[in-house]
Amino acid sequence: MSTSSLPTKTDVLIVGAGPIGTTVAITLLRNGAKDITIVDGSREPSKIGSRAVVVHSRTLEVLKPMGITDELLNRGIVSRAFTINTPTSTLIPGNFGSLEARPDVAFPHALLISQCETEGYLNKKLEELGKRAFRPLKLVGLVEASDGSGLEALFESGEKIQAKYVIGADGSHSNVRTLAQIGFHQPDHPEVDDISNKIDPNTPPLIVCDVYLANPLPPSLSRTDIAIFFGIDGAVIIIPLPCDPNDSTKRPIYRIIAMVPQTRGEAPKNADAAFIQSCVDRNTRFGPDKSAEHAIVESVVWTSRFRTRHGVADRFYKPFGKGGVFLMGDAAHIHSPAGGQGMNLGIREAVAVGEMLAPFVTEGKPKDEKLFEEQAVKRRKIAIDVINMTNGIVAAGSLQGSFVRALRDWVMWFAGRISYFRSFAGFRLSGYYTG
Ligand SMILES: Cc1cc2nc3c(=O)[nH]c(=O)nc-3n(C[C@H](O)[C@H](O)[C@H](O)COP(=O)(O)OP(=O)(O)OC[C@H]3O[C@@H](n4cnc5c(N)ncnc54)[C@H](O)[C@@H]3O)c2cc1C
Repeated sequence: MSTSSLPTKTDVLIVGAGPIGTTVAITLLRNGAKDITIVDGSREPSKIGSRAVVVHSRTLEVLKPMGITDELLNRGIVSRAFTINTPTSTLIPGNFGSLEARPDVAFPHALLISQCETEGYLNKKLEELGKRAFRPLKLVGLVEASDGSGLEALFESGEKIQAKYVIGADGSHSNVRTLAQIGFHQPDHPEVDDISNKIDPNTPPLIVCDVYLANPLPPSLSRTDIAIFFGIDGAVIIIPLPCDPNDSTKRPIYRIIAMVPQTRGEAPKNADAAFIQSCVDRNTRFGPDKSAEHAIVESVVWTSRFRTRHGVADRFYKPFGKGGVFLMGDAAHIHSPAGGQGMNLGIREAVAVGEMLAPFVTEGKPKDEKLFEEQAVKRRKIAIDVINMTNGIVAAGSLQGSFVRALRDWVMWFAGRISYFRSFAGFRLSGYYTG
């Protein structure tokens, strides 16, 4: 869409058309809002770089009324179980069994699908509802409107727009957050300011990549379930992904996430097949010493080096005149990809805020500061809980020293014999635990 048709006023300005901005836009439109504007600084939606590959049970449920869940289920891989392993044994055969026992849970499993495909379905839905993001339109200024009606936003192009409400869904380096003067801190170290550019020295970098594995696959490598290994370098996670629909040979694709400790030198920015192979060989049961079980990395589809950071915005809602700023998604909280939580949490927030805000714009009601603030406090509490959980997973995966590792493995092995623990881990990740 051409930026020349950008309106001068809007009820809701959504900054960022990633998965979270798109979800809040769809939710507002579905709930009767008409005058919303969504902008994105990039020229087009990203088509590569499948960051979030796990869509959890509760997320599938909140996407259902939008008519997206069926398409996701048709394309993705339904995953009902996962294992936590050492290179030689399975510690916890985890599952989503506790969800199956609950009558209120429609999708008692996770779904494995790349983020760019999930975003593709969200964008298609937004277009069906008659909206597209204005691109490229990068927010560079945000001030309270002089007439007290809300905010005035300025873009790099020089264009301006007045909005009663601004939703910051512009990712971890959020300009909305900075311009609204909302701080960003580590929840456990509130003195550590603006961590968005700082690296946590205590956690090793991760190589995150999607690879083609050679056929035939190792007999015990699942095409539906996630395998987590605690190896000598730390955690390595192997996640099956749907085949490329354009690949007639249907070569199997897997997401591999591998911790790279300092002892292995600088983690490569663009890991090649040989480096990824070495991570698999050193840390999983699919190493070369078991020839039938050896997983061979044939080629790399996409790769990225990820430095784990975690932080949370000081507030998720801030009033401006008769309106205000809402933060959500990575603009509000960031953490390790362990547990596949970021996009899932953001989508659930986007639906909750969209549903809450819609009546205020459709019926022109004055804002309800108490309601907005209460919801923001609740969302922030949930985000901190998710940050703590992902920090725990990273800490368990990166333990140093053979004694503590052996102790960890023993505790996990013991927990893995108890049915409650086997399904609790799945429940904790599903999104139902925090709501
Ligand atoms: C390697 C990796 C693996 C991950 N795995 C998982 C997983 O398995 N499961 C999971 O749930 N999550 C996962 N995540 C996290 C997930 O990718 C993010 O939580 C999710 O993308 C957040 O969406 P968002 O819309 O908030 O931000 P983004 O996806 O970052 O989108 C922000 C949008 O805002 C736009 N923008 C930025 N600045 C401006 C500006 N000034 N003006 C206008 N537009 C702007 C950008 O162009 C972009 O389109 C992973 C992340 C990484 C890095």
